[in-house]
Amino acid sequence: MSFTVAIVGRPNVGKSTLFNRLLEKRQAIVDDVSGVTRDRQYGIAEWNGKSFNVIDTGGFVAGSADVFETEIRKQVKIAIEEADAVIFMTDAAVGITDLDDDMADLLRRSSKPVLLTVNKVDNNDRMLSGTEFYSMGFENVYFVSSMSGSGTGELLDAVAAFIPEKDADKEDENPLPKFAIIGQPNVGKSSLLNALIGKERTIVSDIAGTTRDTIHTHYNLFNKEFILIDTAGLRKKSKEKDDLEFYSVIRAIRAMDEADVCMLILDASKGITAQDVSIYSLAARKGKGIVVLVNKWDLVEKATNTARDYEKQLKEKLAPFNDVPVIFISVKEKTRIFKVIETALDVYESKTRKIPTSKLNEVMLKAIESYHAPVVRGHSVKIKFVTQLPTHVPSFAFFCNFPDDIKTPYKNYLENQLRSNFNFSGVPMRLFFRKK
Ligand code: GDP
Ligand code: GDP
Repeated sequence: MSFTVAIVGRPNVGKSTLFNRLLEKRQAIVDDVSGVTRDRQYGIAEWNGKSFNVIDTGGFVAGSADVFETEIRKQVKIAIEEADAVIFMTDAAVGITDLDDDMADLLRRSSKPVLLTVNKVDNNDRMLSGTEFYSMGFENVYFVSSMSGSGTGELLDAVAAFIPEKDADKEDENPLPKFAIIGQPNVGKSSLLNALIGKERTIVSDIAGTTRDTIHTHYNLFNKEFILIDTAGLRKKSKEKDDLEFYSVIRAIRAMDEADVCMLILDASKGITAQDVSIYSLAARKGKGIVVLVNKWDLVEKATNTARDYEKQLKEKLAPFNDVPVIFISVKEKTRIFKVIETALDVYESKTRKIPTSKLNEVMLKAIESYHAPVVRGHSVKIKFVTQLPTHVPSFAFFCNFPDDIKTPYKNYLENQLRSNFNFSGVPMRLFFRKK
């Protein structure tokens, strides 16, 4: 389930302040865009048990007034097209400006829900002057102070109300593994898809209930069935680089939400970028299986250890979660194309596997016996029992006497033991500690 909220508004109204508040301390993806826009940010927010993607559409650095306006129009249009709901932010301290009015005109025409959010309502005076924003004629109006957080709870309640409840039946309707091909423009996503389609008979099916911008293709390769999620149609929409990247990130996040395993493609000749790392860690935080594909390997001059060294450097950049398969491919020369699918299937298998409790305890209690959790405040911390929880992301509960006294280094030790004893390559996992 993927629900995306975009925050739009003129510069300095407090978009990024609200964004940071919605995300609490979670790390955001920052999309460094050159030119007139400042960084766009993407992240995941959670409210009342519902999670959704938040996009701060960014601000603008000083420029001529007309550049400014066309840019803002573009931003609003993309937000309306790509998001499921729009937070339209204004500033109570300044009041309604011409630019606010222009944006309001665009937003009123959209069929998506718009939440007019009057920010900087820090006190009663501001509340009073803020009422002028009712004149803009939006149905949903919220008065908030992003700085102090006041009013943001009601705003989040309203956002959450737009998110459809998860339909448990629907989720199981299509239990085939879903793979998404993601990556920046020009890394070879379409080429890979074409290489796979060209080789085997495929049924392109329009699967009901999928998000409008992703194409689900049903495959039957090596007698294995799976669904490839493609974020096609990207190029047709916009020729401009900034927009292209904006679209591509939103689409990547959307495809990621729908997928079990993400194939993140990089261009070997360009190396990994900060944005790739951000997308990768977002996938990890969303608990998605991951396979990293280094494409255009044909362009790289190779010596004996080139691949090994490349992989080592890559994994340093992907840390801390870097237990992930890395495959060097050339779509052009059709090198290791099918290894990609085999590996994605392996990752899916590891991600969905349930380890029998007896086996888990046999292995993990031995590991715990050979290296105990450190003594805290004079008492020894004892783990008695481990069990895997019935969740989508592999999760393990360790039952112990003092769950709060198990610190990160020991948690990392336990995770590494799980990883080295039971193959979890490309699979993020979660560890919980509970009182026995
Ligand atoms: P953006 O350009 O829309 O992303 O705006 P920023 O989030 O960068 O905020 C612009 C300025 O407004 C910053 O100096 C913020 O500290 C300030 N600001 C944001 N929210 C509030 C608020 O609720 N009250 C007040 N008084 N200032 C705020
Ligand atoms: P997308 O934007 O990620 O879908 O990328 P495309 O599939 O359109 O590929 C972008 C460009 O990279 C095209 O010109 C492809 O021919 C080229 N390309 C794709 N894969 C390879 C490869 O393995 N080697 C080389 N040398 N070029 C490739």
